[in-house]
Amino acid sequence: MSHLDAPTAPRREDRLGACIEFGGGVGEIREPFCQGCLKNRRRLFSQGTICQLLPAIAILTSLKDTVVVVHGAVGCGGAAHALGANVRLGQWRSGDKNPRGALWISTNLSERDVTTGGEERLREAIVEADRRHRPEAIVILSACVPGIIGDDIEGVARDLKNRVGAALLPVHCEGFKTKIMATAYDAIFHSFLRNLIDGRDESEFPVWDDEGARAREAIRRKRLVNLMNVSSMTGPDLAELRRLLGKLGLEANVIPCDVDPEAFRRAPLASLSVGVCPTHDDYFMSRLLEKFGVPYVCSRMPIGIENTGVWLRAVAGKTGTDHLVEGVVKAEEAELELALAPLRPKLLGKKVMLSAGEVRTLATANMCAELGLEVLAVRPYHYDQFGEPEVERLGKVAPGARLNVATAQPFEAVNILRRVEPDLYIGHNSDNVWAAKCGPAVLPIYGSNFVYSGYAGVFEVARRAVMHLANSSFNQNLAKNVRQPYRRDWYAQDPFKYIKDGGRAA
Ligand code: SF4
Repeated sequence: MSHLDAPTAPRREDRLGACIEFGGGVGEIREPFCQGCLKNRRRLFSQGTICQLLPAIAILTSLKDTVVVVHGAVGCGGAAHALGANVRLGQWRSGDKNPRGALWISTNLSERDVTTGGEERLREAIVEADRRHRPEAIVILSACVPGIIGDDIEGVARDLKNRVGAALLPVHCEGFKTKIMATAYDAIFHSFLRNLIDGRDESEFPVWDDEGARAREAIRRKRLVNLMNVSSMTGPDLAELRRLLGKLGLEANVIPCDVDPEAFRRAPLASLSVGVCPTHDDYFMSRLLEKFGVPYVCSRMPIGIENTGVWLRAVAGKTGTDHLVEGVVKAEEAELELALAPLRPKLLGKKVMLSAGEVRTLATANMCAELGLEVLAVRPYHYDQFGEPEVERLGKVAPGARLNVATAQPFEAVNILRRVEPDLYIGHNSDNVWAAKCGPAVLPIYGSNFVYSGYAGVFEVARRAVMHLANSSFNQNLAKNVRQPYRRDWYAQDPFKYIKDGGRAA
C-alpha cells in the first residue's frame, strides 16, 4: 500500500525513526540510531519546541496565486506575520514584479467551536477566500483543534469542489501529532500529490499536430529537471544552482517555494527530480517516482566543496551528461581555490559551533572543516538516516566534536557554548541570539540576500566568516553585560543531563 492511499502522511518518528534527543560525541550517534534506541528518548525538562505549522506556513504562504486558510485558533497562523517581507522578496526574485505576498486567512476557532465543530466556519472561510482572491489553489491547513475535535477537512473540500474555482488542498498539519517539525514537508507534499498533481499533459503544448514542435518539446523535456528549493534556500542560492545545472545543459522547474501551482503540475513531465536536501525532498521525490515514474537524485546537500561535486556528479549520472561534469567541477574548484586563497589563513584553526536543520547544519560543519576551521560542536534540530553520511564525514574530520540533537533547548546550547568557547557560531537567528550573548562572532546560516549553496556559497560563507571574526567586540561586550537566565551551577552540570537514557558531559 502506498502512503498516498491514506489521507495523511505518516509522522517522521514512524516513517524514519527520527529523533530530537541526543547528546554525546559525533561518533556515538550512529549505533544507537541504527538500533532504534533513540526513538524512545525523552527530555525530562524541555525549554521549548517548534510546531510543524511554522515550516508549513513558510512554504505555503510563499506560493503564488494561492490562499492559505489556517483552520485553527487564530494564534496558529501568527508566524505568517513575521514571514511577510521574505515572502514578497522570494516572489519578486522568482520573476513576479508585483508580488501579492502571503495570502492567508484564519478560521479563528473559538471555545464554542470546540464543542459545536469548526466545519461551518471552514466552509465560510474557503468561499470567502475564493471570492476575494480568485486564486488558483486554496490550501486548508489544519491545526491542532480541528484534529482534536475531528473536523472532516477532506469532506469539506469534497463538498465545495464544485462551488469554488480554486483547487482545494487539505493539509493535515496538527502540531500535537509530531515532535519533528520536518513532518510538515511530507504533509504538504502528500496533499499536493493527491489533489493537485494529476500528470495531465495539456497546458503548455497546444501544437501537437506540428511534428517540429513535438520534437522540440521532447528535447526540452529531456533537459527539464525538477529542482527542489527548500524554504531556507535564498534567491542567490537558486541562481547558483541554476547556473551549475545550466553548465550541464539542464533547465530547472523549481518547486515548491515561490512558485505558482502550475509548477507542481509540470513536475511529472520532468526527466529527473533533483533534491537539494534529503530531509526536505525525499517524500515528494520518492512519491513522484512511485506515481509518475520520475526518477530522482538526492545524494548530498550542495553546501561545501566536496558536496557540490557529489551533487553535480549525481545529476550528471542520471541525465547523460557525465562527459561534461568533470570539466565543470575541475574548473569551478580551481576558480574557487583562487578566490579562497587570501581567506584561508584567516580561518585556519578558528573554532566553530553550529546549529540548524539536520542536513544543513551537518553539511555546513563539513564545509567549515574544508575551510580549515575546527568544528567543536554541532546541534542539528533532529536526526534520522539522512544525517548519517554527513555525520560519518564529520567523524573523520572532527572526531572530537560534540553532537547535540535538539529542537530549540537553548539551555543546552548555552551550556555547551560556555564549555567549548568557539570563535564563531553559525546558526539560525533564533539560536544566534543566545550565542551572541556568550561572546563569539555570529554568522547567520540563512539570510535571504546571501548565497550558501554551490561553489559561490563556499566563497561567500568564507568571506563573511572572515569579516565577522575580524571584530566580535560587540558580542564580547554583550557577554560581559547581559545575564543569561540560568543559575551559575547549571554550567557545571552535564548539558545533556535531562535527556533520558543518554548523554555524556561535553
Ligand atoms: S501546536 Fe497546535 S495550537 Fe500550537 S501553533 Fe501548532 S497547530 Fe497551533
